[in-house]
This record gives sequence, structure tokens and C-alpha cells, in this order.
Amino acid sequence: MRCYSCSRFSVPVICKTCRENLFAPTMGTRKVGTLDVISFYKYSSLEALLHTKHKAEGYRIYKTLAKMTMKPFIEEFTEADDRMVYIIGIDEYVKSGYSHVALLTRAMKTKHSKPLHGALLAQNRVNYAGKSLQFRLENPRDFHYTGKAGIDVILVDDIITTGITLQEAQSVLLSYGVNVLFALTLADVQE
Ligand SMILES: [Zn+2]
Repeated sequence: MRCYSCSRFSVPVICKTCRENLFAPTMGTRKVGTLDVISFYKYSSLEALLHTKHKAEGYRIYKTLAKMTMKPFIEEFTEADDRMVYIIGIDEYVKSGYSHVALLTRAMKTKHSKPLHGALLAQNRVNYAGKSLQFRLENPRDFHYTGKAGIDVILVDDIITTGITLQEAQSVLLSYGVNVLFALTLADVQE
């Protein structure tokens, strides 16, 4: 068994050295409309790992990444803020046996935070990869929300590209009286 990132021998799917080096850098915040989006990494530094999504090894890799990022973040957040906060993943649909976004939100359960799995699903699952901003605007995700109204929420996704999807999610939730505090993503495509 080898580290998926550096190929050195390792029992964990990402070795200790890589975990420490990956976790060190570049936490950044970006504003899309009125939404603050916090990302743990630049996309380019995590690209190979993110490409394992929906492959057999992706399950362990996304779980490990969640443990390195989302979990310590929410633990620190709920320590400072003791209201109940709900965690909503963007479109937690299951493909190849798991939802990669649900692996991220599952790591965020604490005494004061609760993931609402599958509460925000896209009706339109058109592929945005490589598509223009114009295309993305003309083909909205059309989210369907089945969670509670009047709650405080942290939105979670794996990658932010244009931020259109997160903004659409925010506005749908707003129409249900949901207060979106901010969004968290693993990686930001914008350098
Ligand atoms: Zn490694």
C-alpha cells in the first residue's frame, strides 16, 4: 500500500508527511455575491486527489481529506459559537457507491452541529466542467430543499469554480428562511 499523493509506502491512504504538508498551506476566503466561501486548498495543489472522486480509492481519500479539514474546522467553530448549526452539502447524490460531498459533511457532526444529508439535491445534474459562466447561468442546478426552515446553516462542497452553484444554493435556502452563515469547500480553482 502506497500514499496516493507521494507513492511512498504508507498504511493510511495519504501518508503522515503529505497530511502535514497538505494541511499546512493556503486557507483562503473568497466572496461570491453576499456569500463568504472558505477553502482549505488551492485546486492545483490537490488536483490528483480530487480526481479520485467516484473511483474506488476516492472513498478513502475524501474521508481522509474531511478528517484533515472539515472536522477540525467545525470543532473549533462550535467551540466558539454554541448555537446549533446545520451542515448542508451541495447535492449529496450517490454515484459509484458513495456521495463524495456526504463524506465531507459526515465528518462535521458535533454536539452543536448536525449534517442534514441529502437535504439539497439538484434536479438538473448537467456537467459544468469546462463550461462558460454564461452556460452555467443558463443551466441552473434547480435545487430542491427538503430540510427545515429557520435554521443556521454552513454550506459544503468539494470545489468552488465560479461560485454560481453555491450562490444558487444560498438563494434557494434563503427562500425557505434558512440563514446561510458561510460556505466551506476543500479547494478553490481560482489561484
Ligand atoms: Zn505521501
